[in-house]
Amino acid sequence: MATETQQGTWRVGFIGLGNMGGPMAANLVKAGHDVRGFDLSGAAVDRLAAVGGRAATSIADAVRDAQVVITMLPAGEHVLAAYDGPEGVLANAAADAVLIDSSTVPPEIPRQLAKLARPGTLLLDAPVSGGTAGAAAGTLTFMVGGDAALVERMRPLLANMGRAIHHGGPLGAGQTLKLCNNMLLGILMAGTSEALRLGIANGLDPKVLSAVMQQSSGRNWTLEVYNPCPGVMENAASSRGYTGGFATDLMAKDLRLAHGAAKASDVATPLGDLARRIFEVHRANGHGALDFSSIFQDPVTLAQALDVK
Ligand code: NAD
Repeated sequence: MATETQQGTWRVGFIGLGNMGGPMAANLVKAGHDVRGFDLSGAAVDRLAAVGGRAATSIADAVRDAQVVITMLPAGEHVLAAYDGPEGVLANAAADAVLIDSSTVPPEIPRQLAKLARPGTLLLDAPVSGGTAGAAAGTLTFMVGGDAALVERMRPLLANMGRAIHHGGPLGAGQTLKLCNNMLLGILMAGTSEALRLGIANGLDPKVLSAVMQQSSGRNWTLEVYNPCPGVMENAASSRGYTGGFATDLMAKDLRLAHGAAKASDVATPLGDLARRIFEVHRANGHGALDFSSIFQDPVTLAQALDVK
């Protein structure tokens, strides 16, 4: 069984060094872990090397002598592709390595990985919440599915990237926690944008309106740390041209995941479904790569999604 190298540090193979994975891997380096990272983008690998990580030339190279493998990839198909096949994680990681997927994917994906893996492979699904700012600050919330004892073993490592680590149940439960949360986030972002636009159109200063709603019953995370109106919050994606945050494409993906789960479990989620249609139209309007808070600047989207004027 893999144990820490010394004083709680691990050899970590990190696959996917994007907006989230890059700062998460950097925090592991900062905490003293030996991190070998791989990304299809050479620039992302160079950024890890610049903060003291080691550059891998392939997935196989990153995981070969790792005790823990963390994947942080866009969607389910990327995760399956990274794990499967002769060059993938499963074929190249040590039999006792702990494999943690932190990407947001359907709950079926971790269960599919378990079927592809050798019996006894140590797998966890551990998606995160907290955005790119939380990834950089090491304050993410981890939602973990898998064996309870394995979660406890990995808790100190995850704590180097996050401040809350919740065990939701068996493999896949972390993803179910995540899709419930992100369905609510999509609804809150669309609703907050709508309230701000209504106020601005009626002569209100968005800073004043935001401050009032933040201290009133409309209070929510988007108002606290992620205001969608440019200029209200200096550090929010909206104040840097909606770049570098949580892409509309990814929010639309998460809302599709929630929709799939709702259908599969026969639960009615009409607001979640409306949010899904709103973000899908926003994507179709050409804003898929922008931060999802850019929904604020696409007022026709709501009307189109609802098919009303
Ligand atoms: P991103 O697109 O910035 O990063 C993904 C990285 O994976 C890219 O750098 C890409 O080059 C790399 N990649 C893709 N296929 C690869 C492969 N086969 N091998 C190696 N690298 C590969 O995305 P992100 O914003 O970092 O999001 C990653 C995951 O985290 C997604 O599932 C997303 O839903 C989730 N998430 C994102 C946020 C956020 O605020 N951005 C918040 C919570 C969760």
